[in-house]
Amino acid sequence: MKMSDQTLEQIRTQLKRVNRAGGFYAKKLAGVDPDDIRSQEDFQRLPFSEKSDLRDAYPLGLAAVPEEEIVRIHSSSGTTGVPVIIPYTKKDVDDWALLFHRCYEIAGLTKKDRIHITPGYGLWTAGIGFQLGAERLGAMALPMGPGNTDKQIQFMKDMRSTVLCATSSYALLLAEEIEKRGCKSEICLRKGIIGSERWGEKMRHRIAGELGVELYDIYGLTEVYGPGIAINCEYNTGMHYFDDYLYFEIINSKTGENLEDGELGELVITTLQKEGAPLIRYRTHDLTRIIPDDTPCPCGRRYPRIDVILGRTDDMVKVKGVNIFPGQIDDILKTIPDASSEYQVFIDHEHGKDRITVFVETAVVDAEEQKQHFEKTLKDAIKSAINITVVPKAVALGELPRSEKKSTRIFDYRY
Ligand code: ZN
Repeated sequence: MKMSDQTLEQIRTQLKRVNRAGGFYAKKLAGVDPDDIRSQEDFQRLPFSEKSDLRDAYPLGLAAVPEEEIVRIHSSSGTTGVPVIIPYTKKDVDDWALLFHRCYEIAGLTKKDRIHITPGYGLWTAGIGFQLGAERLGAMALPMGPGNTDKQIQFMKDMRSTVLCATSSYALLLAEEIEKRGCKSEICLRKGIIGSERWGEKMRHRIAGELGVELYDIYGLTEVYGPGIAINCEYNTGMHYFDDYLYFEIINSKTGENLEDGELGELVITTLQKEGAPLIRYRTHDLTRIIPDDTPCPCGRRYPRIDVILGRTDDMVKVKGVNIFPGQIDDILKTIPDASSEYQVFIDHEHGKDRITVFVETAVVDAEEQKQHFEKTLKDAIKSAINITVVPKAVALGELPRSEKKSTRIFDYRY
């Protein structure tokens, strides 16, 4: 997608802002004169930034405004223990609410909706973003937070929640629980806004079917406001994102080179209006593609689109010379009638060789013959799709752990 003159202008303004602030980016971009960035090609020569850079700026090295303008911080946790701190100005908080409000409108929510918010509140950005958007829309927010399934279902019934906001795995857990309790007729949900992570069509169908809702994928990350920066519309042609606030690029995650629209790669985000902690060419490690705009979305919205998130570049593991990532396994399971949406892949060593064990939940585990047939079908399907041999394991429905946060599908225990 051609970068517009307006975007270039916004980027120069952001570059000047971070220069003046003298923090992390002023050092990273030392020697770059913002006025020299005159084209998309000039911009694409700027260095990327990584989560590890942000961590090195701990605690407030990312701040690009004087401290008195910072009204809030959020934080994303890292695996290394040092968190990333993102400062927000008043405008950043307002802008985030505005973006979230747009997401809700695209999903067809109105002020008559009752929005049941299960993501967590606190340093993590999730819950409060759903809340801000709901209040700006004028809907009724139910700030549930995660956990306590009994109370969730009680409120859903008594408060007649119409919209469920959740991760895909928590939505599934609630759907299963409602099914188990046989109380579906008392549930008034009509839509689900699900934090975008890779989740297969099977899981989508189960949640949609069991809850009787239309589902929307909402995308975002703490470093860039939080959730609420992209969402699919009713035509489900990818997620619309807001190019007046954010500039998206797709790169080859190995070489860093920019890819054409339509090609699958790593999403890189530049913020265009953020004050507290602007980000320049920030690598998200999320795998997606920009949907070419030669086929506009039938909804008529002018916001460009990215595909749903197909996985993480970090989840992509190389086994026996083959790259595997969760999206492929989802696609394979779709072709196997008895397979549910839930699976986990374990990779370890056996006698010095990589061993890949694939656990899949299915209803056919009780009958030995059917179970063996299922496992053979699974093994053959994976072999024919990605040419690797796995150890197939059928497990009972509900046996694999469900989580309230993002679910991990591939566990690499090789040393
Ligand atoms: Zn659309």
